This record gives sequence, structure tokens and C-alpha cells, in this order.
Amino acid sequence: MNLNSAVGELPLVGPVYQKRLEKLGIRSIRDLLWHVPARYIEDNIVIKGKLTSLKNQYTRSGKKIQIGKVGETTLVWFNQPYLTRVLFPNETYTFSGKMDWFGQKRALISPFINEQGIIPVYPETYGVTSKWLRKKIKIAYELVKDEIKEYLPETYGFLSLPEAIRQAHFPQKAGEGATARKRLAFDELLGLQLKSIKRRAEWQKNKASYQSTINNLIIQQLINSLPFKLTASQARAVAEITADLAKPYPMNRLLEGDVGSGKTVVAAVAAYAAFANGYQTVVMAPTQILAQQHFNTLNSLLYPFKVRINLITSAFTTKEIGRTDIFVGTHSLIHQKLALDKVALVVIDEQQKFGVEQRERLVKKTRHGPVAPHILAMTATPIPRTVALTFYGDLDLSTLTEIPGNRPKITTWIVPPEKRVAAYEWIKSYVISHKSQVFIVCPLIEKSEKETMKDVKAVTAEFSNLKSQFPNLKLGLLHGRMKANQKDKVVRDFRNKEIDILVTTPVIEVGIDIPNAAIIVIEAAERFGLAQLHQLRGRIGRGETKSYCLLFAESPGEKALERLKALRQNFSGFELAELDLKLRGPGEIFGTRQHGIPDLKIASWTDIDLIKKAKEVVKLTHDPFT
Ligand code: ADP
Ligand code: MG
Repeated sequence: MNLNSAVGELPLVGPVYQKRLEKLGIRSIRDLLWHVPARYIEDNIVIKGKLTSLKNQYTRSGKKIQIGKVGETTLVWFNQPYLTRVLFPNETYTFSGKMDWFGQKRALISPFINEQGIIPVYPETYGVTSKWLRKKIKIAYELVKDEIKEYLPETYGFLSLPEAIRQAHFPQKAGEGATARKRLAFDELLGLQLKSIKRRAEWQKNKASYQSTINNLIIQQLINSLPFKLTASQARAVAEITADLAKPYPMNRLLEGDVGSGKTVVAAVAAYAAFANGYQTVVMAPTQILAQQHFNTLNSLLYPFKVRINLITSAFTTKEIGRTDIFVGTHSLIHQKLALDKVALVVIDEQQKFGVEQRERLVKKTRHGPVAPHILAMTATPIPRTVALTFYGDLDLSTLTEIPGNRPKITTWIVPPEKRVAAYEWIKSYVISHKSQVFIVCPLIEKSEKETMKDVKAVTAEFSNLKSQFPNLKLGLLHGRMKANQKDKVVRDFRNKEIDILVTTPVIEVGIDIPNAAIIVIEAAERFGLAQLHQLRGRIGRGETKSYCLLFAESPGEKALERLKALRQNFSGFELAELDLKLRGPGEIFGTRQHGIPDLKIASWTDIDLIKKAKEVVKLTHDPFT
């Protein structure tokens, strides 16, 4: 047996256990030994002696408890009637556990049997207990321990790998488990970073489909024609991207910038640079509404320069269009037959909304074997920079650090239920006096990516309720299940100020840019994550009118309220992300799967120091970032 053997080779680990272990991600002996304890039970009291008696007793509620004695000491277990069949009076055992009150007396509560010292508690799953894991890990460890070897040239102040594995499972002293875990967490982070370096090297083996020549005069003409001046970081991002477009190997860059930081125009300039060389660009957005908006924006910016832009919808047929310079669409781009014969640049907006697979499929459609287009992914997902660099180490990063324009700070209010009516009155008068517009966002009812009929019903009911609340204003309804042309019409009417209040599901969460909207009401705000609330709030505060975000929360728990309060003072997506990470854990903010960031098994994304240390070591040994 070796580290790579299947767990099934261990005695008494048959198909049933193998299946259960798979749920814990354990297939090989290595997986089993790297399944490290979640915590340890330390400083147990240990009693060794003859079991003098043991019997089952019924409690008043009909549960069985087991009461034993070793000399003067009482032992108590709950609901483990089988113990009377496996423990025998007059035999000697070691019991270890904690003393606590049992009725009027002190007793050793649920003591471990013949397991002593520091007892590891493992992540468990149905049918696989820590006790079972402790046994199997011990057997496996004894069989393969000599194979566990250090692979790092030095240990950088951590335990050696063989020591770490031993101490993680069989600690002798308090604290050893934690030290061991640190080394293994470090290894995990190191592994991730090395993987990104490998991905990066693989990508750079490709040849760029088209190398553009960057004529700064031509690009400057476009920039001069914009209705605003680029911010310093937009200008820097444009310079970084256009420099990449001229390289012989394809760009793989992430443009990260908070909501409203102006990523679209950066992509527009990049697409224009490709156009100026006679090449095509494909822009993919996660929703139809956003694709439509990008189509409009790109048209208004680039029409004067004779750039031909086409919106690809599912209703589209190839015959309808002639030559296209920029294709804009949703993931339906992947399925369409398009004349993608000269694609130099692929832009993926709100990339966190796409699965890794969708992204790959779009790239595949535009590449020819080892010849691949430049890729620009954009996101407002405020991934802390340290995390981004670990996980997206294969991507180059451009960051937009400032919010452009003269935009008054958004005021955020948490509105208690009893003030709802007053809030509606205030909204009415604000809309009239400032000629501004309102989003009212209803949450999805079930936790799912897609909107269900239930969601449609709920938002429709709220829509008719709100119509009677605001009899003198014009209301529109928007949800993901509407037909594309209906959605377009509603958004267009809202943009053209023919609708005052847009009642909507979170479909507007990302990307929508309607600067005249100055109020957003978020219903059941406690059900959204901080990052999502920040995104939603980012729909307003895009114009010069003072904007307000009203968070309605029915009865938020203490934690939820803490999150909502954080939103009042904090306007930085990065800071809110760090905070959310602390308050809720990474799975929640990154929507892990969605962002392609894996769940860490041992390390934690909040352990910034360890992430940094791993990065330093990678840099020492590989120096990939030069
Ligand atoms: P993001 O996609 O980063 O959330 P957008 O690209 O939608 O942001 O831009 C937000 C708004 O800011 C748009 O209305 C856009 O026209 C405007 N904008 C972008 N850059 C600037 C700038 N440099 N100065 C003023 N307004 C800008
Ligand atoms: Mg955007």
C-alpha cells in the first residue's frame, strides 16, 4: 500500500464507506491522511481502571442513557445503548473526557473509551464519525508513514511535512495540532499558487491570434471624443491593455474596479484599438439587459468612428448582418454561428457570473488551436487583492481605484417596518422635487441562481401593491422570466424617464447604468450578502443628484443587522468584502463555485498572512511575476 492507493484497500473499507468518504473528498490514502482535524479535544481527564458497573437507564422523555462506574467516578453516555454490549464490568479500560454536572453529582460526560490524550475531531459526514476516522487514519498512517517525505528545499519556519502529518493526527501536547495545520495550510496555498503559475505558463505558450499595432494618435482621438476625461486609473488600464494587444502572446487580464468605476469605457477603447487594426472583438455579458446596454453604450461611443456593432440575441440569424467589428451578447454567443474570422479580443464582463466552462467555450470558439485571442475579463467583485493574486495569479491585474465624476456620497438608511409608510411618502416627494427615479428590488425567494415562477409571482404581487401606494407615479415591472423584448422595453422606458419606479428582482444587480436613478429600495435586505448589497447600491449614485439607498429589513438577526450597519459607513467594495469575509466566511461572498475560487480544505481565505507568506516563497523559488 502507498499514498496513492485507494482507501478501499484498507481493511473493512468497502464500497459503502468508499462512497461516504467521497463526500469528504477522500479517495486515496493520501486524501485520508490530509483530512486534518477541524479541532482537538484537549485537557481531558483520564481515568484508567476497572469498570465496576454499567447499565441502561430511561429518562423521563424516553431516551436511553448509559451510566457506569469506575471506583467513585460516575460515567455517563447519552443514547449509546450498544455500550452495554461492548463494555464488560470487571474489565479494565481507559476513559477520558470532561467532568461536568449530571443532576446533583459530578460525572465524566460521554467519555472516550481507550482513546486518551488529545483527541482529534474530524470533519464528518453521514455514516463516517470522527471515531471511525481516527481508527482508519491510525492504520493507514502506520502503513505508509515512511513514504511521507519533505519536498520543499527548506521549511521556512514551519514543521517538516512528515512531522506535520504526524502532529496533526496524533498530537502529544496542546497546540501541536494547530502548528501542524499551519504547515499543511501553507502547502495548500503554495499548491494553488503554483497551479496558477502553471496555467499562466501554459497560456503564454499560445500565440496571439492577432498582434495589433498601437497608434496612440488614433486612440487619443477616441479618448478626446468621450463626454468625460478618463480617470488616472482608467488611463493606466488602457495603457496596460493596449500594450498587451501588441504582444505576440495573448493577454489574459482581469480588470477589477468597484461598481461605477467605469470599466465599460476601458473595454470600448481596447475594442477600438483592435478595430483600428482591422480586427474583431467579442463582448459577453451575463444578462440580456446588460448586453443591450453595452450595445447602446458602445454604439454611442464608437458610431462616429464607423465601428459596426451587432447585438447577438437568441432570435438572431446570421443572414441579418454583414460584416461586424464588435459582437455583443450573452452566453448565447457561444451557440451562434458567427463570422468570427478575425477576433483579436474577447471581453468578458462581470466574469464572476460565468462558469469557468462558459468562459472556456467562448474562448474555444474564437481560437484556433494554439492561436488564441487576447482576453479581458472584467469584474466588480471585490476580491481582496491578496486573494486575487493567489487565486488569479495566472491573470494580469489592472485595477480602477477611483470613482469618476462628481458624485455626491450615497446615504444609506436601514428602515424599520413601522417607518415604511413614511419612507414611501418621502420617496414620492423626492421623486417629484428632484425629477429622479427609483429602483425597488425584491429578493429571490429561494436560494438559487435562476428566477423561479415563485419569484415572478412575488415580484408581481409587490408590483400591484406598490401601484396602489404610488398612484400618481408611473411604475414598471422587470424580472428575469420576461421575454427579451419585454425586458428591453421596460429598461428603455425607465432610461427614457417614462417610468418613475422600477420594481424588479435582482436581475439588475450587475452592470445596469441609469444615472438618473437616485433611490434604491432593497426589500428583505437581510437576505442579501454585503457584496451583493454593495452591487445593488451601485445602481444609484451615478449622477449628480444626491442618492439614497433604503434597506428594508423585517426582523434582522444581530449578525444581519451588523452587516447592514456596515453598509452605512462603508462605500468601498474591497473593504466590504474583507468585512464580509470576516462576518460570513468566504463561501458566501465569493459564491465560491460561481467565481471559480475553490473551497480551501485546510487553509482559510481570511488567513492573509499565510497567503502572503506562500506568495513570498513562490516568488523566491519561481519568480514568476517578473
Ligand atoms: P462599471 O462597469 O465599472 O460599474 P460603468 O462602465 O457602467 O461602470 O460606468 C459608470 C458610469 O460612469 C457610466 O455612466 C459612465 O458613463 C460613467 N463614467 C465612466 N468613466 C467616467 C469618467 N472618467 N468620468 C465621468 N464619468 C465616467
Ligand atoms: Mg459594468
